[in-house]
Amino acid sequence: MDRYTKNRIQKLHPSVREEVMSIIKECNTALTGKAKIRITQGLRTDQEQNNLYAIGRTKPGKKVTHAKAGQSIHNYGFAVDICLLIDNKQVSWDTLKDWDNDKVADWYECVKIFAKNGWNWGGNWKTFKDIPHFEKKDYNNWRKLSKLKKDKNDYVIL
Ligand SMILES: [Zn+2]
Repeated sequence: MDRYTKNRIQKLHPSVREEVMSIIKECNTALTGKAKIRITQGLRTDQEQNNLYAIGRTKPGKKVTHAKAGQSIHNYGFAVDICLLIDNKQVSWDTLKDWDNDKVADWYECVKIFAKNGWNWGGNWKTFKDIPHFEKKDYNNWRKLSKLKKDKNDYVIL
């Protein structure tokens, strides 16, 4: 597991850190070495969320999100975005490529492992598909999360 991924896991909500660590390990084992998961984004602060929201609205570019601060599961540390890291150097968001030649696309192998562990894939969403995105099924409602109290480190108290 690369250090970026490790660091990002350490900033997720404390209740899911070990779980995500083990999911990533399970994925990497299934992918047998050529492709590995890199987490490109985990926790996203409200400030970072508002900066993203501005893109395509008050800042130039195409819209990248429908979520304002507090409306993304990333803001609570219950979501991760991933890419595949090929041979430890090339990043890939290819959902069809079968790098380990086992007749199942590597990305889909990961989707299945996340699902088995109770994490939804943004690629299954009907509108605004979010291919890199996974979020924990039990905590995927920002309206509920936004009502919870926060601890001194700004994580919601479950
Ligand atoms: Zn995401």
